[in-house]
Amino acid sequence: MSADKLDVYRSKRDAARTPEPVPGPGPLPRGRDDTFVVQEHHARRLHWDFRLERDGVLVSWAIPKGLPLDPKTNHLAVHTEDHPLEYAGFEGEISKGEYGAGLVLIWDRGTYETEKWTEREVKVVLHGSRTSGRYVLFPTNGKNWMIHRMDPPPPEASRPLGEGLLPMLPEPRKRIPRDQRAYGFEFDLGGDRALLAVQNGETRLIAADGGPVPAEKTPDLGGLPKALLDLPAVLDGQIADVSGTPVFMIYDLLHLDGGALLDRSYENRRRTLDYLKLNGDRWQTTPWFPADGKPVLKVAHQRGFPAIFAKRLTSPYLPGMRSPYWLTIPTRTAP
Ligand code: MN
Repeated sequence: MSADKLDVYRSKRDAARTPEPVPGPGPLPRGRDDTFVVQEHHARRLHWDFRLERDGVLVSWAIPKGLPLDPKTNHLAVHTEDHPLEYAGFEGEISKGEYGAGLVLIWDRGTYETEKWTEREVKVVLHGSRTSGRYVLFPTNGKNWMIHRMDPPPPEASRPLGEGLLPMLPEPRKRIPRDQRAYGFEFDLGGDRALLAVQNGETRLIAADGGPVPAEKTPDLGGLPKALLDLPAVLDGQIADVSGTPVFMIYDLLHLDGGALLDRSYENRRRTLDYLKLNGDRWQTTPWFPADGKPVLKVAHQRGFPAIFAKRLTSPYLPGMRSPYWLTIPTRTAP
């Protein structure tokens, strides 16, 4: 076994410019061939990188639609260069202009067993926190492989998305928190809080009490599934009245492509949402401002918004709960 397995990986990267691990040439580490990782990659095109530890490297595929949950739908998996084992723990921003520029977040990580590993078939059983089950990968044309789930869909795959989810709630405060660097600030535009489930080309708004949203308050969101690349998702926001027309103002992302993002930090959920660039006539992603609340409060006051939100950058999403992770500060306290 030689270290040449990582030559392609090294040739695409400049160790001085990328935060990614770039081990020098030398003998490869020995592992147990039982680690897998799925990394969500906000590159020029959104994809998930699926990596299996094998003979001292992570054998890798890029999957534009993520791991399939349904055995009836196979997904394209593009075989990519072997990655170093250290990469299984990597999260971070690869800067503009570098290979694979964009944010990398760990989507799932766990152990796996190999049932078969040949050039024509890789059959594994995954034990992750988001995904478990038997999968097979097989080449179809050059670098293009397919990934197929051999187990039946997990029970949650047959439930409607967003079922039982309630919005996370802010605690009222009189002023901006003193440790404001730990928060992201957003405008409260008023209007009704709602969650939006997007699945199978359809959209479903869920009111703050878990019930339906009245038809006259429902924006026309027909084009949103396409804007989301037909990936299933759950969004959180407010239905604002813009000159008599309802518009869904989006400020959080709770689920994307078969995975709940509730335990991902507010900052990383927000960065993922921004990356999706959801901006249409009837839906908009609202801005957020890390670390400095005063100018946000001032602008909110000038524009007549009722309040601002302060959301702790490291906080998870706690459905239906009111906690000090999220604060609401009325604009009347603005200078
Ligand atoms: Mn990638």
